[in-house]
Amino acid sequence: MSEPISDQPERVNQPESVVDVAGLQKSFGDNHVLRGIDFTVDRGTVTVILGPSGSGKTTILRSLNALDIPDAGVIRVGEQTIDFGGTYSKSDVTKYRAQSAMVFQNYNLFPHKTVLENVIEGPVTVQRRTKADAIAEADRLLSSVGLAEKRDQYPHQLSGGQQQRVGIVRAVALHPQVLLFDEPTSALDPELVGDVLKVLKGLAEESWTMVVVTHEIRFAQEVADQVLFVDGGVIVERGGPDEVIAHPAQERTRQFLRRIL
Ligand code: ADP
Repeated sequence: MSEPISDQPERVNQPESVVDVAGLQKSFGDNHVLRGIDFTVDRGTVTVILGPSGSGKTTILRSLNALDIPDAGVIRVGEQTIDFGGTYSKSDVTKYRAQSAMVFQNYNLFPHKTVLENVIEGPVTVQRRTKADAIAEADRLLSSVGLAEKRDQYPHQLSGGQQQRVGIVRAVALHPQVLLFDEPTSALDPELVGDVLKVLKGLAEESWTMVVVTHEIRFAQEVADQVLFVDGGVIVERGGPDEVIAHPAQERTRQFLRRIL
């Protein structure tokens, strides 16, 4: 990354946690998907969630952004804590959701808005920042990911990799406490994956706090501070990449890695 993506203040000297999850449970009908998930994400670190398809990874991420509402569990994201097994209001959920920003597998850009309009939508309409301010920052962010000249185009005029970089810029422009990535490269043609992973690495180097669901094991090895291996709705194994990926202790982790490597 030749120039910084964002001007986020240096936060690496503050080792406090940004995300605390305790006792997270979620069922869809009879399907008990999350069966007691506990973890912490320290400020300025990258957590990668690995695990087989259907193990509950996306549901964990969506619970952090209140796109899925947990059945039980106490979760703090940034400055907002909710006890999902207790009582809480709609406005508690709105404040909780505003602590994080999600980057989706399929980009989820507004198809009828230009790239620039996609990026400034949240800052202007939700965060009430001035349009001039939001545009200035959007232009700077777009140029840092090589998309300055695409600002007035529509999503369908962009490649998947370009659309995903817009998706990332849109999340960063919200200045959330934590960035959540749900398999951000899995919809991309193989030759476009590298550019998107490079942007993620740049954000990690700038000490953004990130939680990433991905099957990109090499990326996880290079960038993760913490790896969570999830299977059957529980965290089976956790630790640094040198532990969980290079020297997994659990047979289920070894089996999973053998399958995808
Ligand atoms: P992963 O991300 O590990 O592939 P998910 O969290 O997406 O797993 O899904 C875990 C399980 O929850 C799957 O069995 C999936 O079908 C189910 N599930 C996820 N979202 C919903 C939903 N909105 N309604 C019903 N079932 C769901």
